Amino acid sequence: MMSKVETKKGYFGEFGGSFVPEPLQAALDHLEKAFEQYKDESEFNEELEYYLKEYVGRPNPLYFAQRLTEKLGGAKIYLKREDLNHTGAHKINNVMGQVLLAKRMGAKRVIAETGAGQHGVATATACAMFGMECVIYMGEEDTRRQALNVFRMELLGAKVVAVKDGARTLKEAVDAALMDYAENYENTFYLLGSAVGPHPYPTIVRHFQSVIGREARAQHLEKEGRLPDYIVACVGGGSNAIGLFAPFFDDKEVGIIGVEPGGRGLATGQHAAPLTAGEPGIIHGFKCYMMKDEDGEPASTHSVAAGLDYPGVGPEHSYYKAIGRAEYVAIDDEEALEAFHALSRTEGIIPAIESSHAVAYAMKLAPTLSADQSIIVNLSGRGDKDVQQVFDMMHNKK
Ligand SMILES: *Cc1c(COP(=O)(O)O)cnc(C)c1O
Repeated sequence: MMSKVETKKGYFGEFGGSFVPEPLQAALDHLEKAFEQYKDESEFNEELEYYLKEYVGRPNPLYFAQRLTEKLGGAKIYLKREDLNHTGAHKINNVMGQVLLAKRMGAKRVIAETGAGQHGVATATACAMFGMECVIYMGEEDTRRQALNVFRMELLGAKVVAVKDGARTLKEAVDAALMDYAENYENTFYLLGSAVGPHPYPTIVRHFQSVIGREARAQHLEKEGRLPDYIVACVGGGSNAIGLFAPFFDDKEVGIIGVEPGGRGLATGQHAAPLTAGEPGIIHGFKCYMMKDEDGEPASTHSVAAGLDYPGVGPEHSYYKAIGRAEYVAIDDEEALEAFHALSRTEGIIPAIESSHAVAYAMKLAPTLSADQSIIVNLSGRGDKDVQQVFDMMHNKK
């Protein structure tokens, strides 16, 4: 069954689709068939629910940030606590769903790409727990910058392949993983980490991340007896955001706001905000808003948050923007860092720098609203992984 938001199979308006060579298309067709077969099967969903509860720790709270709310004055701020999940972020929701799908498909081997290493760690975690072989592709440059995450993946029993092509970062890692997948899809499952890539990945990732929005919607109804006025999430590839947004799509009274990384400022060009400042194009086998250089190729990007540093974005977000269902805004590096400190001090919660972008926007929005209104902010991850980086930045400034 197609989602009501998919205008034709694999498309969200003009966005999405699958622009890949033939061998890879065969693998994707195979995956789509399996996903359609299992996603509504009760045994599959019972098993997924079991692991989300017992292993991931769901449902996580929708926490009323009372001190932050009082400090800002205005709408109530609620935090959806994805940071409390096992491995410290929302990524594990999607990983558990896809690993169970891999098992059903009889795959012996799971591969994944990773940039900063967060998706690689989540994938290695689930593969360890299910006893599956795990290979993680990572640009050689990233393996150097994120040496501790490489070690984490190895502790968990994964093999990390350092990709030495091109700029040796995420793009090359994706290309290497796709090539492996096209060759080995009979026994290998490619576990993609965000709501991007060719069909059916954006649909699969949205499906498994929607648990965030379903829980948050029910929790807010229970606490407030009504729906929130706004829901806010940071957007890299867009998986934590679409997971929160999708279950609210038909609730027209709920404003949807996606927060992109404005980096050093939109005017500098050094950002990763394709929805706010990009244009439609094709990247990694699908159509979306993207940041282009003079030749129309994916531009180089910058964000203080490694997890948001990508020149494309999920096709479903591109569609939400095109039809005006969501608003996309940018928060720059400095504003995100201020929110990182503010939430740490007022609530005793150190947020991921990615999530701090959403917190920063909510901190601007709340004072413009009234006390009987409310905002849900998706706290996509915890900041433990970022304290060294913030420490270094603070000390270099002096
Ligand atoms: C990876 C990551 C993101 C960005 O990915 P999306 O697919 O846009 O959600 C955001 N927050 C955290 C904590 C992450 O690890």
